[in-house]
Amino acid sequence: MNQRLHSFSQWLQEQHISFALITSTPNVFYLSGFYSDPHERLLALLVFPNEEPVIVCPQMEVEQAKHSGWAYSLIGYSDTDHPWELIANYLKKLALPIEKVAVEKSHLSLERYEQLHAYFTARSVLNAEEKLRQLRMIKDEKEIAILRQAAALADFGVEVGVQTIAEGKTELDIIATIEHELKKKGVREMSFATMVLTGEKTAAPHGVPDLTAIQQGDFVLFDLGVVLDGYCSDITRTVCFGKPTEEQKRIYETVLAAQQAAIAAAKPGAIVGAIDKAARQMIEEAGYGSYFTHRVGHGLGIEIHEYPSMNATNPMPLAQGMVFTIEPGIYVPSVGGVRIEDDVLITDTGVEVLTNYPKELIIL
Ligand code: MN
Ligand code: MN
Repeated sequence: MNQRLHSFSQWLQEQHISFALITSTPNVFYLSGFYSDPHERLLALLVFPNEEPVIVCPQMEVEQAKHSGWAYSLIGYSDTDHPWELIANYLKKLALPIEKVAVEKSHLSLERYEQLHAYFTARSVLNAEEKLRQLRMIKDEKEIAILRQAAALADFGVEVGVQTIAEGKTELDIIATIEHELKKKGVREMSFATMVLTGEKTAAPHGVPDLTAIQQGDFVLFDLGVVLDGYCSDITRTVCFGKPTEEQKRIYETVLAAQQAAIAAAKPGAIVGAIDKAARQMIEEAGYGSYFTHRVGHGLGIEIHEYPSMNATNPMPLAQGMVFTIEPGIYVPSVGGVRIEDDVLITDTGVEVLTNYPKELIIL
């Protein structure tokens, strides 16, 4: 059994859980290596304290599951089968006492919960998510190698974007070029909808790109990432098209100093909240505190946002193998915004920055 399944099974043993029913694509992938998004159809990984695990998936995906390296049982169901019935029959054969069941409470729909209850009268239903978040938070060597490559592709995406900037080009023009060049490098999917924002629109941390054209004096903000072998990257860079004003320069230099202070504070044992505070303090001292409206970052891995949440009140100590973003920003309405975001890895002694696109203010 792989290390991840082994650790999870051990937790089931400790908690006296009869079995775990894992149904989210990211957690099934993490534990089994099989990546599948079957939409409304059921994908389930059953993990037991002492039995071999089993994947339940649509019949048409059984071969893919085998190719992904899954060496245990597979139950494929057709569109006319009832997957819950197949699961119930499988469990009956194992003849296990079913008392406590673990599920992903934020993922399992009420409809599925009712199905579960119709077939098994478990006395209690626990949440498996906290344990899985903890396991996923510490990346192994294989995951780190993929995350490094994903970060390098994000660097390349920004490089293409910056090279593409020209007066009159629209945000969506630039996005199309970035994604076209990444596809030529084998990137099938972005980790979220690529963001290119220009001018005053940069003041919205979650702005929506459209046909707005780039003009002299605009900040242009890129926020993008790729999915590589199931793992996400996430980078933000802001550049200036034409000569920046004194205020634009001040905002940029403040965000850069804040971002560097947060990176400098990141090491094993440092408290997550202290990383946020390191950046926030710099921004507050420069008088822009009320314009930094979000946490300093988020964990990164199979999902674009995972643990640890890099917010000011998180008391968790950082540990070797954690991967997260550091992305302070200043957003001044009707002026514009700057965000600088890197992906970082906590090493045994400090921090390794995975994204490497230059950060000094680029003036085009
Ligand atoms: Mn981002
Ligand atoms: Mn991010």
